Amino acid sequence: MEPEPIFPDDELWMEKAKCRGDGPNDYFPSDGLGVEAVKATCQACPVQEQCLEYALENRIEHGVWGGASERERRRIIRQRRRLRQHEP
Ligand code: SF4
Repeated sequence: MEPEPIFPDDELWMEKAKCRGDGPNDYFPSDGLGVEAVKATCQACPVQEQCLEYALENRIEHGVWGGASERERRRIIRQRRRLRQHEP
């Protein structure tokens, strides 16, 4: 199966979200166990990459997006910033 193209600002990907129809509170867990449960759902989501890029692009701070916790997304942002600083 071809991977989904990534257009993070095109919100059509949301229609394919595995979490579509789930309660929004499920994706804003309050503890580590909740985070792991959500991440397991995200692993089977066909638009995980788009979801993660959307959250990164829009600087969404709370909840699990694209299988990444708040802390993981902050780490990705820092890594990308560092990489950009080292670009010629
Ligand atoms: S990656 Fe996770 S949070 Fe994002 S749309 Fe898929 S199931 Fe929902």
